[in-house]
Amino acid sequence: KVLGAVAAIACTTIIALILSLANHQTLNQPYSTQYGIVLDAGSSHTALFLYQWLGNKESNTGIVSQKQSCDVEGDGISSYVQNPPAAGESLKKCLDITKAAIPEGQWKATPVYLGATAGMRLLRLQNQSLADSILKEVSKTLQNYPFDFRGARIITGMEEGAFGWITINYLLESFVKHSFEGLWIHPKAGTIVGALDLGGASTQISFTPKAKVKDPDSAFNLQLFGYKYELYTHSYLCYGMDQALKKLQAYLHKTAGASPVISHPCYHNGYILNVTWAELYNSPCVDTPNNYNPTATVSFSGTGNPSLCLSLIENIVNLTDCALSPDCGFNGVYQPPVNGEFFAFSSYFYTFDFLGLVPKAPLAQVLSTIETHCNKNWTTLTAENPAIKAKYLKDYCASAHIIMTLLLKGYKFNTTWDKISFQKRVADTDIGWTLGYMLNLTNMIPSENPRALTGVPH
Ligand code: AMP
Repeated sequence: KVLGAVAAIACTTIIALILSLANHQTLNQPYSTQYGIVLDAGSSHTALFLYQWLGNKESNTGIVSQKQSCDVEGDGISSYVQNPPAAGESLKKCLDITKAAIPEGQWKATPVYLGATAGMRLLRLQNQSLADSILKEVSKTLQNYPFDFRGARIITGMEEGAFGWITINYLLESFVKHSFEGLWIHPKAGTIVGALDLGGASTQISFTPKAKVKDPDSAFNLQLFGYKYELYTHSYLCYGMDQALKKLQAYLHKTAGASPVISHPCYHNGYILNVTWAELYNSPCVDTPNNYNPTATVSFSGTGNPSLCLSLIENIVNLTDCALSPDCGFNGVYQPPVNGEFFAFSSYFYTFDFLGLVPKAPLAQVLSTIETHCNKNWTTLTAENPAIKAKYLKDYCASAHIIMTLLLKGYKFNTTWDKISFQKRVADTDIGWTLGYMLNLTNMIPSENPRALTGVPH
């Protein structure tokens, strides 16, 4: 009897296993590793991401992960205004490294995309034909590689925000989860997280609000694995970290009168920065003064005054205009109340990582850490941080204050600070728009659920 029962159980198990294998379509279709490449042509630099997953001709069911990434040397492609072909040239080292990491037989089947963000959006505003010629040059370089070139374009701010949101939630498996029994289950409501991205030239906020999005221009509707999502997303051009810091300098310059040395309360005591007017006003984010003289120089001298720094920042972020009160972000932009957990990445992460505040810290600790940091003089700070490049070290005080202003007063996380987690990676994969962009363009997130889906609907 016992033997019979054991045999019956074994038999059922084998049948279940065969059914489960058939369900996964692995019986007669060999799966192999597939690859995809996305280049993130950001304002401050370009990064190449190589993704891999298991798939075959019929379906790509594997989870996509990041195999490697490569930082392109030099500045972003939008900086190659004097020499567009050099923008294409600059990508070669990373492309060669990536080519060597993919088996030769797979090169032709590997899609490659380049997406340019706010640095190129700004250049396009200044000079459309220069922006076009840089895109043409990077396309030429990419076409000279044996991959499947799928285009080089400037993505919109909404795409940048929405694809960052897709990347995070895909990596966290908030859309679907592959259960132990081999079924795709729909995770419980409330597991979807929002995305806060702070680049060099623009900043994005993306989340699923509690109520319907009232402004169609900031609604992004998606259907993923059979479930509908309405995303609120907005990209603030000129409020990426580098442009926000530039706005601060330009504001100080404008209000300082004719003085050649200007006190900068967000710079550390003892730190002095000399810039030409040409450098200071090289962006459409700042208006050139009437007496503009490109070769004139200006000297910013740090005074390390955190409270003055904070009030200065409130001059470059308009916190009062709000036609749809109280549903506003900053600069009069419509934004429903923030909802759920959020991941903050890019410059949010770099700054908070330096300050030792990742992934989470109570608000009181964050405020006191920033205050202590800003009060340090430049000599002490550089002596304490010999490994940190001065180009970043000089700005962490200002960037921390910009971040706090955006988060607490702009987006209004003042009562929900604990919902923000400062993260750079999930599941060994960098957070950013690139993975979501590739998943979308390769149709790797089906709009309908692939097989039996169980679980709790939203
Ligand atoms: P990216 O991730 O290259 O788009 O950079 C976004 C912003 O982060 C830019 O303003 C960069 O200058 C800045 N950034 C990049 N790396 C660091 C770092 N290690 N520390 C501080 N800021 C950084």
